[in-house]
Amino acid sequence: MPETPPSALDAVLATLEAPATQERNLADLFRLLAQPSISAQGVGIRETAAIELDLMQAAGIDTRVIETPRQPMIYGEWLGAGPDTPTVLFYGHYDVQPPDPLDLWASPPFEPTIRDGRIYARGVADNKAQHFSHIAAIRAWLETTGSLPVNVKVLLEGEEEIGSPSLDETVRAHRDLFAADLVYTSDGPITDDAYPEIEFGVRGMCYVELRAKGPNRDLHSGHWGGAAPNPIWTLVRALNTMIDDQNHVLIEGFYDNVATPTPGARAAMDALPFDVSAALARIGLDRMTPPDDLPYADRIMARPTLNICGFTGGYGGPGSKTIIPSTATVKIDMRLVPNQTPDEIWEKIARHVATHAPGVEIVRMDGGMLPSYTPVEHPLAEPVRRAIERGFGKRPIDIPLTGGSLPDATWTKTLELPSFMVPYGAPEQANHSPNESYRLERLWQGMATSAALLAELAAGASSE
Ligand SMILES: [Zn+2]
Repeated sequence: MPETPPSALDAVLATLEAPATQERNLADLFRLLAQPSISAQGVGIRETAAIELDLMQAAGIDTRVIETPRQPMIYGEWLGAGPDTPTVLFYGHYDVQPPDPLDLWASPPFEPTIRDGRIYARGVADNKAQHFSHIAAIRAWLETTGSLPVNVKVLLEGEEEIGSPSLDETVRAHRDLFAADLVYTSDGPITDDAYPEIEFGVRGMCYVELRAKGPNRDLHSGHWGGAAPNPIWTLVRALNTMIDDQNHVLIEGFYDNVATPTPGARAAMDALPFDVSAALARIGLDRMTPPDDLPYADRIMARPTLNICGFTGGYGGPGSKTIIPSTATVKIDMRLVPNQTPDEIWEKIARHVATHAPGVEIVRMDGGMLPSYTPVEHPLAEPVRRAIERGFGKRPIDIPLTGGSLPDATWTKTLELPSFMVPYGAPEQANHSPNESYRLERLWQGMATSAALLAELAAGASSE
């Protein structure tokens, strides 16, 4: 692979730091932020896609729209580095969450405003400033050197905030178009402000609802108590067959496919510098759920969960009401780890309910999400680490698995590519909340990291 002279990257970084470039990049980002793109409400999607197309073309990326059954995707490429050079696929999303409640915003959500070194706008952190950093880095390379050290593809979708319903089928339908050596995503906040990080995977999910029926209407508990079955007790008993007091899930085969973390993932989990006691204190807790001896990292990254999200039934209003309720429901999410699948877990929990809780109806809420991971040991992780070190001035920590819900399995399972998630945002950026914000400092650091990534990928997987 060709060596990129360090001077080329230095020159690109100087371009990015030049006041004129920073001013133009801010203006371009503000244009994007001023345009609402609320996928949940179908607001401003086409208009935003047109701006993205424009910005990517202005950067020198050959860009077009890919239609999906729902919202359009923007796809661009620059393949001038040649077939013997790696190709990186940048993924991001241009849609945003609804801005409500509006009265809690200090400045209007679609009028980007800088206060105290931060940009305030809906979607600035999630995800416009983050994917715009890649576009700005590509532009700086092309303006400064006339070329890129590696091939680049960029895919921006407009449905991430509604669960990326078209992504996987679109990628399947255009497999050749998305051929690459790695996928690189900057989204979400980092976990701890003190360290940049690489996330190597995400937990999967299977979501179900249990329903129990009792009498055909609520009954007087004096007239019928002891005679009519109570559907809430039916569900409590069903739930009790699923988990023990140490949170070990009792559904047959639930842990069968749980992968042991690779040696690299194990070492990364053991080395995580997070202060768990402080994190617990911030949420008003002084201990984790049993078992006591399980390390924090294992809970989040190596063990699946069975979680009750909600329990509905009977009377919950003020005072007392003496009834035997007619119905009860419980919602359960199961967070999955490699190599579990939502289909397999659905079959196991459905069989468990049929066996241990006859009469309880179980319904699958959606297709769920596959867990996804790239080995921490992957050779392309090293150039990614070096790029982050260049952009943020610190060596990143490796996070083998996160709880986020990015469609990472599309890259690792459908395309069978390594995928690295490198959040450029800070922990306090208020994604999905009023007053979403993004630190200007991180905007410049993210652009520098994206620019350095192209040089480091060209320099190769192993060189130091
Ligand atoms: Zn989001």
